[in-house]
Amino acid sequence: MSVDVLASKDRVVGEARVRRALPQRGRRTVGAWCFADHLGPLSVEGAVEGNGGLDIGPHPHTGLATVTWLVEGSLLHKDSLGSEQAITPGQLNLMHAGLGVSHAEEQLTRTGTMHGIQMWVAQPDATRFGDAGFEHHADLPQHEVPGGVATVLLGSLGHATSPARTDTPLLGAELVLQPGTSSTWGLQGAYEHALVVLSGSLVVDDAVLEPGRLGHLGLGRDELVLHATEPTRVMLLGGEPFEAPLRMHWNFVGRTQDEMRLAHEQWTADDGRFGTVDSRLARIPSPAPA
Ligand code: MN
Repeated sequence: MSVDVLASKDRVVGEARVRRALPQRGRRTVGAWCFADHLGPLSVEGAVEGNGGLDIGPHPHTGLATVTWLVEGSLLHKDSLGSEQAITPGQLNLMHAGLGVSHAEEQLTRTGTMHGIQMWVAQPDATRFGDAGFEHHADLPQHEVPGGVATVLLGSLGHATSPARTDTPLLGAELVLQPGTSSTWGLQGAYEHALVVLSGSLVVDDAVLEPGRLGHLGLGRDELVLHATEPTRVMLLGGEPFEAPLRMHWNFVGRTQDEMRLAHEQWTADDGRFGTVDSRLARIPSPAPA
């Protein structure tokens, strides 16, 4: 089988550069995964406060779940449900927007290094107009094989099953690979899978993957062999192909442009759909959809 290697796009979020692995022109989704921004590692020494660096003020979401995962650093999540939760490396913050939610992400320290990935999962019709929800998981299951250990954020890998909510058949795991070894991972053939390397470098089939690349593995693999050439940390994403055509605008995911316009209008009008976040940071205005 072959690996489709796509270069991530450089984007700026707040004042931080990110590598956007999803979505791309040739690859909108992997299962229900529809967005992936790899941030850092970057120094936050002396970063100023307020919608710069990694401070992201209150902003809305609809139709998706945010999945926040850190390798270094820490953030404080605050949302319109009243949640206030610090996140540190190895922990999962998972927020389902349903019809609407808003949140802020505040830097907890202005020293050291930040490194992480924020991803979105598109919600199916069954839940995308439903209630918002927030989960924090500090103790996630691990699955160890010769040459590597996986922490399972969402779904199941090997004998490890995450307790976190999923609305569609989905896998999200962080694999830490030992250098100079190959590791073999059992996969679900009904899923498509992709790899996003956070640090290090690996070879899969004939492809070399490193930060700034999305390796799309396609459907029908029940086994994955990874060869790490240095200490390597990689996200393994998978799921049943998401059939509904998605429309995305800013922080909104839906099915039609009318839904995007309505979300924009309702956030701009602050009509209550997205609630209110208790944050010292400024509310972020929505750009107008086309
Ligand atoms: Mn957000």
